[in-house]
Amino acid sequence: MKVSIKFVLYIIFLLSSNELISSEIVNFRFGSNSDIKRIVLDINEDVTFSNKKFKKKIEIRFDKNVSIKNALKNNEYLNSIELDESKTTLTLNFKNVIHNPNIYFLKKKNNKYSRIVIDYLRKIEKKKVIVIDPGHGGKDSGAVGVRKQLEKHITLAVGRLLKKKIESNGKFDVILTRNRDIFLKLRERTKIAKQSNADIFISLHADYNRNKRTRGISLYTLSEKASDKEAAALARRENKSDFLGNVDLSDETSEVTNILIDLTKRETLNQSSHLVNFLIKEFKNDMNLLQRTHRFAGFAVLKSLDIPSVLIEMGYLSNKHDSKLLTDKSYHNKISDDILNAIVKYFNWIEKNSI
Ligand SMILES: [Zn+2]
Repeated sequence: MKVSIKFVLYIIFLLSSNELISSEIVNFRFGSNSDIKRIVLDINEDVTFSNKKFKKKIEIRFDKNVSIKNALKNNEYLNSIELDESKTTLTLNFKNVIHNPNIYFLKKKNNKYSRIVIDYLRKIEKKKVIVIDPGHGGKDSGAVGVRKQLEKHITLAVGRLLKKKIESNGKFDVILTRNRDIFLKLRERTKIAKQSNADIFISLHADYNRNKRTRGISLYTLSEKASDKEAAALARRENKSDFLGNVDLSDETSEVTNILIDLTKRETLNQSSHLVNFLIKEFKNDMNLLQRTHRFAGFAVLKSLDIPSVLIEMGYLSNKHDSKLLTDKSYHNKISDDILNAIVKYFNWIEKNSI
C-alpha cells in the first residue's frame, strides 16, 4: 500500500514537473529556393508558442520547457541557436538580415514530428533606377562637330539606345532626363534624378578641343575644385547652359549638418569613383581613352549629394576620327554595351560590399 502511494506521488511529481516532461526539438532542417529560405524545427510533440522577430534574430517563446536533441552544426543561415536558462525561449541568431519572416506551426497528426516552420526572404528585390541624362538639347545644341554634327543629337541617340539595352537586362528601371530635342536646365536634370530615387546618374556628352588631335573618351566625377585647368574650362562650357547657376545648398546649415553633408558627399564621390573605375575597365578593351581618363570637375549636373554621378565625354567632335565614330551606329552600340557591363559590375560590387 505504502509503495503504491509513493508511486502515485511520483507520477504526480512527474506530471507537474516541466523539467521532466519537456518537449524535444529533434532536428533543425534548412532549405531554400532562389527567393525564399526555410528553417524547419522538428519537435517530438505538438507545442504552443509565441514569437518575436528582429532584424537578425527570431525569438520563439514556448509555453513549456523544451530541450534540444542535436546541437546546431555549422550552416550558412545561422550563427547560433540559444536556449535561455528557463528553457522556454529559443533564439535563432541569423548571419544576415532577414526579410518578411513568416513563422507557422504544423501539427504532428500522422507525421513523425510536429514542425515549426520559418520562411523568410533572402532580400527584397527592388529594381535599381538608372537615370541617363543626354546632355544639352533644344536651343542648347552643345558642341558642334567638324562635320557639323550637333552634340545634342549624339547624346540623345546614345541615351535612347542605352535605355533600351539597360532595360533588356531586366534588373533596372531607366529614366531619360529628356527623350526629345528639348532644352532642360541643369537643375531640372538633377531634380529628375532625385525625384525618381536614382541609384546612379550618368550624363552623356561629346567634347571639343581647339587641338584637333585630341581624341578619346574621358570620365568626370564631381570635385569642389576642378582638378586642372582643362577640366575647369570644360565645366564652364558644360555649365553655361544653366541660367540658374549651380545647385545651391541651403546656407542656413549648422555645423553638424555641414559635417553630415560632407560625409554623404564623400561617400557618394567614393561610389562615383568606383563606377568610373568599372567604366574604364570596360572601355579599355575596345575604346580610345584620353590619358588620365578619370578627371574631376565642378559640373553642376553632377551636384546631387547622394546619388553617385558620372559624366561621360564620349569623344571629341573636334577630332576627325572621333567625330566620325560619334555618329556611327556600331560605336553607339559598343559604348552602350560597355556602359551596361560597367553598371552591372558596379551593382554586383555594391551588393557584395554591403551588409
Ligand atoms: Zn556637353
